[in-house]
Amino acid sequence: MAIDCLIIGGGPAGLTAAIYLARFHLSVLVLHDGASRAALIPRTHNHAGFPEGIAGPELLRRMGEQAQRYGARIAEVRVSSIKPVADGFLIETQSGSFAARKLLLATGVVDRRLPMLEDVHDEALQRGLLRYCPICDGYEVTDRKIAVIGMGAHALREAEFLRSYSADVTLVAPDGPHALDAAKRAQAGEWRIGLRDGPCLGITIAGTRIGINFASGPEYFDTIYAALGSDTRSELAAAAGVSTSDDGCIIVGRHQETSVPGLYAAGDVVLGLDQIGNAMGQAGVAATAIRNALCEASPLRRPARGGPH
Ligand SMILES: Cc1cc2nc3c(=O)[nH]c(=O)nc-3n(C[C@H](O)[C@H](O)[C@H](O)COP(=O)(O)OP(=O)(O)OC[C@H]3O[C@@H](n4cnc5c(N)ncnc54)[C@H](O)[C@@H]3O)c2cc1C
Repeated sequence: MAIDCLIIGGGPAGLTAAIYLARFHLSVLVLHDGASRAALIPRTHNHAGFPEGIAGPELLRRMGEQAQRYGARIAEVRVSSIKPVADGFLIETQSGSFAARKLLLATGVVDRRLPMLEDVHDEALQRGLLRYCPICDGYEVTDRKIAVIGMGAHALREAEFLRSYSADVTLVAPDGPHALDAAKRAQAGEWRIGLRDGPCLGITIAGTRIGINFASGPEYFDTIYAALGSDTRSELAAAAGVSTSDDGCIIVGRHQETSVPGLYAAGDVVLGLDQIGNAMGQAGVAATAIRNALCEASPLRRPARGGPH
């Protein structure tokens, strides 16, 4: 029998939707391949309700437990394709296929990484020496010495954003000289953002600081923000004919439905603010819309206790 809703993605968006849908007494299966961005968060301090902060993996563990408590099933497996069919969707994975009446994509994005050894990257991230999201944790680096590594207008915007936290912000070009035009250079000057040409020859942890090795020698910072952009995990959606923006984000309507009827999307994979709270909010909207659409197709009525209705 087809599952009422299959969710691809076990991050904050997918798990929030699973909690809602399971509590609507619907059958729910969450498939994920273990790569939630939230699992990388050492400790979030801007997620409401946790004044002492909460580690990303712990938040995911709690959400998974909550969803399963109401009957949602969660399995770790990579989804290889999705196909709209007459009465729903066929979902193919490495270990079998599933039929679902509705489908929710909560597949997120992947941050592009700096060329660093895996173990150095992970230690730097855990210790707050390397960061990816100024909206999330700019507060934690107030008045610190910050490097933003990235190119072009996007990285400059990130450096400008961080100027409201610190007067000591340097924009570092990773591969060679900055390619900013005269107007952008003047803009950086106006914001008092230092410009440092690459190439960055390596990144190392040095005690409580993090060093960027330039040809002239290392320079040390309190933290580095990687501003190399991200890749949206919307390949399944695009292959199924879902409309996406130029940068690959899924475009949705007011109730999170995509251009393919019955297929919904929530979280970072959707065009918008990449934040836990936003992912959860979108997932709540999507789950309720899915419930209502299923009810329209065949009314959801609880049988009377002890007998058929
Ligand atoms: C270092 C760091 C710190 C951050 N700090 C904060 C913070 O403090 N506050 C905040 O609000 N936000 C923070 N964020 C952002 C936050 O992590 C994301 O906004 C949030 O995780 C988005 O949730 P999501 O469910 O949309 O996507 P994700 O959490 O990325 O989950 C995507 C899911 O999709 C699955 N998936 C994708 N493709 C497939 C496939 N083909 N088959 C099976 N599964 C698939 C993945 O396995 C994963 O389970 C931070 C991000 C990073 C990287």
